[in-house]
Amino acid sequence: MPVIKCKGGFDWEGVPVLAYKEDGTHFKSITRRILYKGADELPSEVRYFEIAPGGHSTLERHEHLHVVIIQRGQGEVLLGNQIHEVNPFDVIEIPSNTWHQFRATRNEPFGFLCIVNINRDRPHRPDASEAENLKKDPAISTFIRL
Ligand code: MN
Repeated sequence: MPVIKCKGGFDWEGVPVLAYKEDGTHFKSITRRILYKGADELPSEVRYFEIAPGGHSTLERHEHLHVVIIQRGQGEVLLGNQIHEVNPFDVIEIPSNTWHQFRATRNEPFGFLCIVNINRDRPHRPDASEAENLKKDPAISTFIRL
């Protein structure tokens, strides 16, 4: 794949629009595109995610680290115990074992690139006691979608 041509907007030739995850109700109105599948010399994937207005990603944490670069729209991200507004071309490092969730906050798609190691652990969602702990902070309690 020497060059994957962008068709304009946020679509690329030969890159299908995939479900964000295979199933579940812990996310809403979000799609996934795999732009780069990695190589022996660079074992990382680059994905493009897009959240429709009112949508959100899964609240989760995991050992592996993400780097996210916002591409369009505006959103908010819970990162640990902080909520940040994020805009195009902001760069976000989501450290190991840090709770995170993205939400679209305007009436337009919210899109971002996410770089991740090919070899990674599975995301973990909060159990009942972890959810209770997160909800102790009123701002986080209002923000999160389980
Ligand atoms: Mn994640």
